[in-house]
Amino acid sequence: MTRYEVSVEKDACDGIFACLTRDPRFVEGEDGLATIDPNADPIYDCEGDVTDTPERVVAAFDDDRIDEARQAAAACPTDAIVVEEVGE
Ligand code: SF4
Repeated sequence: MTRYEVSVEKDACDGIFACLTRDPRFVEGEDGLATIDPNADPIYDCEGDVTDTPERVVAAFDDDRIDEARQAAAACPTDAIVVEEVGE
């Protein structure tokens, strides 16, 4: 298991939603920008703590899906998604 944080910078997000197809934990928020919902993926039982501020959405996970989050980050044309390992 890897502990990691996924953040979406709202200023940078353009609502293009390339991220959604790479990692189903990314969803469209009420503001038309990407947000993170750990419960949005019916296939995996994943848990995460989500903090939503005016600047960014940050979600902390402790699972083996960091590669999916990284693929979503790589697919984002505006580099709005940052994935960081935060230790074991
Ligand atoms: S791919 Fe990037 S710009 Fe598009 S919705 Fe996702 S985070 Fe926002």
